[in-house]
Amino acid sequence: MDTVTRPRILVVGAGFAGVGCVRRLERKLSPDEADVTLVSPTSYQLYLPLLPQVASGVLTPQSIAVSLRRSKRYRTRIIPGGAIGVDLKSKVCVVRTITDQLVNERYDYIVLAPGSVTRTFDIPGLTEHAFGMKTLAEAAYIRDHVISQLDLADASSDPAERAARLQFVVVGGGYAGTETAACLQKLTHAALHRYPNLDPKLIKWHLIDIAPKLMPELGDKLGRSAQEVLRRRGVDVSLGVSIEKAGPAEVTFTDGRVVPTHTLIWTAGVVASPLIATMGAETVRGRLAVTAEMTLPGHDGVFALGDAAAVPDKAKDEEGAVCPPTAQHAMRQGKAVADNVIAALRSEPLRPYVHKDLGLVVDLGGKDAVSKPLGIELRGLPAQVVARGYHWSALRTNVAKTRVATNWLLNALAGDDFVRTGFQSRKPARLKDFEYTDTYLTPEQVRARAEGPEDPGASPA
Ligand SMILES: Cc1cc2nc3c(=O)[nH]c(=O)nc-3n(C[C@H](O)[C@H](O)[C@H](O)COP(=O)(O)OP(=O)(O)OC[C@H]3O[C@@H](n4cnc5c(N)ncnc54)[C@H](O)[C@@H]3O)c2cc1C
Repeated sequence: MDTVTRPRILVVGAGFAGVGCVRRLERKLSPDEADVTLVSPTSYQLYLPLLPQVASGVLTPQSIAVSLRRSKRYRTRIIPGGAIGVDLKSKVCVVRTITDQLVNERYDYIVLAPGSVTRTFDIPGLTEHAFGMKTLAEAAYIRDHVISQLDLADASSDPAERAARLQFVVVGGGYAGTETAACLQKLTHAALHRYPNLDPKLIKWHLIDIAPKLMPELGDKLGRSAQEVLRRRGVDVSLGVSIEKAGPAEVTFTDGRVVPTHTLIWTAGVVASPLIATMGAETVRGRLAVTAEMTLPGHDGVFALGDAAAVPDKAKDEEGAVCPPTAQHAMRQGKAVADNVIAALRSEPLRPYVHKDLGLVVDLGGKDAVSKPLGIELRGLPAQVVARGYHWSALRTNVAKTRVATNWLLNALAGDDFVRTGFQSRKPARLKDFEYTDTYLTPEQVRARAEGPEDPGASPA
């Protein structure tokens, strides 16, 4: 029996940040220096920036779900489940496993990388009727849903129903919403030749945002170029507009328009995972307030990064600037935090995270894209080559790279068959059903659970 107790490093979340950290720990730590455990509800790392391409059928879901176990140095223990609370005082993380058992996982070092969830507002009907674009299941669901609208409109002889089925609303003019609207509009447009009974003029996509510009981080010119591409394709872009209320068959805009629709996709920003609130620690707009070394002040051995943490942006001169919630930062923070965990373990000095933003790439489907790598403004095919090249090279495994490249080629040559899989039909499809936002404990519940018997073992939820 192994009686040596090694320090326990617990990583929460297997996204860009968590996996970046785990892989680095596996590479740089010898197995007898520490035990590494990863809590993850899925057995893959999701390459989120390509999610709109899954929704539009350019890529299969599996191609952007990168296996957690495919690594030469893989030796991490993976707990299949989600962390639902952390008690910083007793160093316990409460995990709900995928079989709904609650487990107290003790740690010496914890790396919090649970990412973010869709940010919603108090708009009547929003959480009941909107779909998000944050998980693989949501993307696959939306694809089936959009194709089902075409099928239902095709089968209906009621003009009002046809009109409602063929209108689609996307809220959020950031890169996620713009890409989603652009890619899905391409799907419905390409599908038309398989639906000869549908009047193309009835298909209408709306992209709305309360901000006065699309993707302000791209600058005025590129934002306008993206808007022009969408306008050319018939997407109705409304800026300075949001949703007043949402119902099962219509959405009311704040400018008074009532759009009959069964499809409302909500991509108006993200907010840190609800796990952060279970700790009762200081936050900056919901993200855990950490130092530039990604440590939590006043709590030894606690690190946080990615979308869940407000990591100071040392590459900017601005006072109080924090890194934006992007994959670009999360994956680099993952490596940097691993180095700092190792430094803490070896009583060496920690280093601050510094990364100068490399820019943004926005795939609008087909040959359309806008990109701003290293400040250079690109449009059309050159922008698309940069966008796809960037994402392709950022995929972690060669198998994932091959799957994605093959899918792109196959889609370019053979197009889409617009098949509805029906895997998730008749299942609840609200935001909380996909993003599990109602699974977390309150700080008091976490405390009570952590202070329970020393070895409570697994207990049913
Ligand atoms: C549609 C879309 C397009 C985007 N495009 C771009 C882009 O082009 N460029 C860019 O830089 N960024 C882009 N982003 C943003 C980028 O994907 C995120 O900033 C990035 O994924 C954050 O990394 P993360 O590791 O913090 O979180 P994630 O990558 O979201 O990973 C979090 C992980 O934690 C898991 N998790 C959640 N809760 C728990 C829990 N309680 N316990 C255990 N595990 C948990 C999740 O399942 C997930 O695996 C896009 C995002 C979206 C949604």
